[in-house]
Amino acid sequence: MYKDQTLSELQGAVFRCVKCGMCRSICPVFQIEGSEASVARGRLALIEEFTRDKLKAGDNLARVLSSCIMCGRCQANCPNLVEVVKLIRSARAELVRFMGMPLSRKLIMELFYSRKRLYFAFKVGSWLQKFLLRRIPKERGLRLRYPIPLLNRGIAFPPIARDFFLHRYSSTRIAPNERMKVGFFAGCLINFVLPEIGISLLEVLTKNGVSVVVPAEQGCCGLPAFFSGMTELANRLNQKNLEAFQGLDIDVIVTACPTCGEALKEYYELVNKRGEKIEVLDISQFLWRYKKLFSFPKFTEGTLTYHDPCHLKHILGIYEEPRQLLKMIADGKFVEMDEADLCCGFGGLYSFFHSQTASAINKRKMKNIKATGANIVVTACPGCLIYLRHGIQQEKLPVKAKHLIEVLKG
Ligand code: SF4
Ligand code: SF4
Repeated sequence: MYKDQTLSELQGAVFRCVKCGMCRSICPVFQIEGSEASVARGRLALIEEFTRDKLKAGDNLARVLSSCIMCGRCQANCPNLVEVVKLIRSARAELVRFMGMPLSRKLIMELFYSRKRLYFAFKVGSWLQKFLLRRIPKERGLRLRYPIPLLNRGIAFPPIARDFFLHRYSSTRIAPNERMKVGFFAGCLINFVLPEIGISLLEVLTKNGVSVVVPAEQGCCGLPAFFSGMTELANRLNQKNLEAFQGLDIDVIVTACPTCGEALKEYYELVNKRGEKIEVLDISQFLWRYKKLFSFPKFTEGTLTYHDPCHLKHILGIYEEPRQLLKMIADGKFVEMDEADLCCGFGGLYSFFHSQTASAINKRKMKNIKATGANIVVTACPGCLIYLRHGIQQEKLPVKAKHLIEVLKG
């Protein structure tokens, strides 16, 4: 269940920051914007003032808090283990309580609760994109054809899929020679934008004797609503997903999106048919743990490099498994990039609302990818994949971006 910290809990936790400033060399936003208000130390100082009633809730504080991309790199490197992401998120929820939320954003978020309305909105979007957007070089993304208020013309929109993953693939896929059975939580980006990731996952698992249950009634994990301060909506979504997965005959749920993985691991209590807790594993963890069950085709198309999704590495601590899997198939053709765990700039809605900073962060990532000389950059997050492809197109790099499971499928 999603839960907010109270103001006094928030005040107590903010005190853990000893203001050493080590986060200044770590934060991707500070590297671009360079002001104290754009780094964990400065943001926490303002939250402290707010909790002591020395700073009023208002647009300035809201702007400072919304300018954090929530990558978690600072907290993963903080000597005092300050939970920066949780604190900023809780402060955002407090601000929503004081100031409310813009109606347009509230309506968009509420869409995610109603399955029917959400599917209808994406169907309409998929139809409208033919007229409102134009394709920028093949398969890479879409650009606004006409100016639309509030939307930046420089943003690359990922095309909405024609067939949504859950429409076509929700059911139980029984593997020939079944050795295990798992559940799959798809998440919105795989469902509506990149269904090929889910299709690859089903293929890899079932080919190797792992049956997969994909409940049709699953929906948004709720974390984007929770991060925006809409805790009540996040819990309604949580409840729906619990109903979809509760009581299934599985011990494990796999995810291919670190945001969904984080939500399910940290905020859900899932129980199977036998009343036992269901374990949630990122697909890289699952495949590495059970690698003896799997045979993967060798990678022969050049050189691979890997970009760490922020929430996978900095929040869930998963970074060895994807690398081990890639090294296993690449026969020495794997090369590390500099700052592999630096954000790509996506951050969900961050890249829409803070497109200039997001773009500048992305440029740095592109420079690091280019320096490796690799022709494939692999990641383990659909959101990163969208933004890496955007950057590659902008910089005209001779590189393809792929999800780990697509590379393992061969
Ligand atoms: S958040 Fe951590 S690293 Fe940053 S100033 Fe505070 S204690 Fe230091
Ligand atoms: S979560 Fe990321 S963007 Fe936010 S303060 Fe920490 S390092 Fe900077």
